[in-house]
Amino acid sequence: REILTRASMGIVVSEFDPESSVPQATGEELLVRADTAMYFAKNQSELPYAIFNDDMLAENMLRLELGSQLRHSLERDELTLLYQPMVQMCDGTTAGFEALLRWEHPEHGTVSPNTFIPIAESNGLIIEIGKWVLRKACQQAMRWQAEFGRPIMISVNVSVRQLSSTGFVEAVTETLEETKLQPECLKLEVTESFLMQDPESTIELLHQLRRIGLTIGIDDFGTGYSSLSYLHRMPLDILKVDRSFVESMFDSEKNASLIRSILALAKSLELNVVAEGVETLAQLQRLQDLGCHFVQGFYFSQPVKPECASELIDHRWL
Ligand code: C2E
Ligand code: CA
Ligand code: CA
Repeated sequence: REILTRASMGIVVSEFDPESSVPQATGEELLVRADTAMYFAKNQSELPYAIFNDDMLAENMLRLELGSQLRHSLERDELTLLYQPMVQMCDGTTAGFEALLRWEHPEHGTVSPNTFIPIAESNGLIIEIGKWVLRKACQQAMRWQAEFGRPIMISVNVSVRQLSSTGFVEAVTETLEETKLQPECLKLEVTESFLMQDPESTIELLHQLRRIGLTIGIDDFGTGYSSLSYLHRMPLDILKVDRSFVESMFDSEKNASLIRSILALAKSLELNVVAEGVETLAQLQRLQDLGCHFVQGFYFSQPVKPECASELIDHRWL
């Protein structure tokens, strides 16, 4: 088994001045700072090293603070789901919605899932939060179904820790039973990097989810290191091209052909393709020419509250 690894380095510069009357940082304090810079390099930097500055410490404190407050976010009713429509290219109808999580923090305002999902993953809260998201999204889909008299497809993002936790399949089954949503209306979005972490057990897990009747989408495609032979064996339905490819589509002919290749790959794997992060008409037209099946992005709509999403269900986008 091949393991990809890299080294990260944190640097702290000590301006030790034996004459100074200001208290000097101790060796221990310097190590904490170097460590903070190292984690910054690991998680947030393009470079393999980082030089410590005070902002990093402040951010660390913020992460710690958010981590402990996140525990109460559910009981305090601070989490909400927004919904972003997915548009079907062939007829311009709304093909469904992706549920996207927000944390309405009493002091910091709206906190992005990019900030708090990693925290929830590291302290294990993601399991509880994930269950809440699933139930909430299924309930919303049922509400729309009752209102519009037809099934509305809902996509839910599931994180690595959630998927690898024991009892995940059972939790999904229970939620479907409780909310009475047909499994065909639920799509789970799993990131490409998760699929390749432990492909053999993932294949088994995906088969279990598929047997229940769920649709499986591979998210952020193109950013991980997918092995084609594994992809071929995975029971998947949808491939979501990462936003970065759509963004850079017009930068060069090479970039445009990347999307073309992904579409060709999806075709041979018999997967439908969603392009995410569509922001301009030019991008939309190009994706249409390339034969992309679904599109999603700010060009159509931002993620919105359920009341606003209701108004988009019967909208003709194209
Ligand atoms: P993602 O699954 O790749 O979701 C797409 C992100 O791109 C969303 O960010 C969405 O608001 C944003 N987006 C959509 N269209 C456009 C566009 O045209 N331009 C630009 N610039 N951005 C666009 P968001 O809502 O901040 O979510 C970020 C990530 O957090 C998601 O990426 C997903 O990985 C994660 N996430 C969100 N909700 C959940 C959840 O309930 N559970 C888990 N485990 N992860 C979640
Ligand atoms: Ca997603
Ligand atoms: Ca994505």
